[in-house]
Amino acid sequence: MNKFLFLLITTIVVIATLVFFLSYENRNKSLQSDTVEKNNINASDNANQSSNSAVSPGASSVEQSPANAFQPPLDRAGERVTKKKFGQYITPQNSPVQPEKFSGYHTGTDFEIFPEELDADVPVKAVCDGKLLSARTASGYGGLTIQSCELDNEPITVLYGHLNIASVKFKAGDEIKAGDVLRSLGADKSTQTDGERKHLHLGFHKGSAIDIRGYVNLKSELGNWIDPCSIDPVCK
Ligand SMILES: [Zn+2]
Repeated sequence: MNKFLFLLITTIVVIATLVFFLSYENRNKSLQSDTVEKNNINASDNANQSSNSAVSPGASSVEQSPANAFQPPLDRAGERVTKKKFGQYITPQNSPVQPEKFSGYHTGTDFEIFPEELDADVPVKAVCDGKLLSARTASGYGGLTIQSCELDNEPITVLYGHLNIASVKFKAGDEIKAGDVLRSLGADKSTQTDGERKHLHLGFHKGSAIDIRGYVNLKSELGNWIDPCSIDPVCK
């Protein structure tokens, strides 16, 4: 009887030990697979993040529609804005350009030439995509070209003043692309600039109506124009 009890107890102990070890091993396995799964999730998160960051630069360039892509009108444009800026109040007395015949708030930005360009051909490029509305001469400008463009899905007219109108590249009605050469700058103090120094006057007028005034008497009227240098990279 004692022998039987001893065998029974031994068997129970052995079975209990086996059950304990088996359940311990199963728990370890499930813990391990949990960790592997978590690691996998982390890895796929990282992959998502890196693929997201790889996508975003491309996505932001897609957001900019071609109609809103502006360009500088001249090489090294930013270095040329040294005299009359947008909105500056000019009088014959205070003007950075002497002698001065104009007065009022400047409705555009003036781009000056470099000394070596005085007798050189200086090509003026379109700053945006859009139809050429007018190419003619006008008092105060000499040669003048006006283009229709879009800024933030709103129409604007772009005025390029003091051009050599004879150096015709396009005619009214032509579709122009940003960067296309419109014309050369008019010769210094000639009929091409209406006696002004050789430089470019660039004006952005809101809406599709043409207003060629280079100066306005009231500051409130300036609200009908946009500072060209506020549109990147026109003055870069
Ligand atoms: Zn000007």
